[in-house]
Amino acid sequence: MNKKTFPVAFGIDFDAEASWLGKDPDNANKPVLQSIGRYAVEEGLTPLLDLLRRQDIRATFFVPGYVADHYPSSVQAIHAAGHEIGSHGYLHRSPPLLSIDEERDELMRGIEAVSRVTGERPVAWRSASWEFSDRTIPLLIEAGVTISANFQDRDRPYRHVRDGKAISLVELPVHWHLADAPYFLYGGQPGRILLPHSAAFEVWRDEFSGLYERPGAYFHLTLHVQLIGHPGRLRMLEQLIKFIHEHKRATFMKASEIAETVPMV
Ligand SMILES: [Zn+2]
Repeated sequence: MNKKTFPVAFGIDFDAEASWLGKDPDNANKPVLQSIGRYAVEEGLTPLLDLLRRQDIRATFFVPGYVADHYPSSVQAIHAAGHEIGSHGYLHRSPPLLSIDEERDELMRGIEAVSRVTGERPVAWRSASWEFSDRTIPLLIEAGVTISANFQDRDRPYRHVRDGKAISLVELPVHWHLADAPYFLYGGQPGRILLPHSAAFEVWRDEFSGLYERPGAYFHLTLHVQLIGHPGRLRMLEQLIKFIHEHKRATFMKASEIAETVPMV
């Protein structure tokens, strides 16, 4: 990669109902709540893929195995459009809440389901809750995962270190303020509110500008098809993409392309 390149990553969760089912088993009896997730399949995905195609962007989609099993043609459409498919567990369950056997099963079933649908084994992985247990890193290594998109400690990609040694796992850090969920996720909870599109746009634009000037930094935006796939929000995202395209060094890259640039030191 040219040293002057400023990598831009879109990490997009295609959760459908899995994020609601994984959050609370009682949600299996709440079809209306689940339908918020199903919007991703019914309405959100096609215009989002159209926008990415028009803007010549290849992104990384994180897909729970449950979604690969239930909506294989949607996942194949993402893959066929040239995007990378990462794994996002099986039923979107948070690692710290699982036993070691459950965590291994969630990880492996997730990877296998995506592999069956795309014909390619995913190497990137995002935790359902952006949280790890103390067993997660060894399990990821065992599963052949080489990219994590979870930690929030830096503005640049880096390699994880275990026992003083760099390991195969590269981190592509994320941040809550560079995600759509804090602005747009709402399931009827008292006390929670939806924010205007302009709030997300202003934060993302200003952070992009600052990161663009920070040596070695990159920009990693986390999106969810069920949240960003609504028409007004897609318009806002298109404005952001146009703003990013005004920056000469900005280069949209898939997770694997960015990870390849992180040295083994
Ligand atoms: Zn998710």
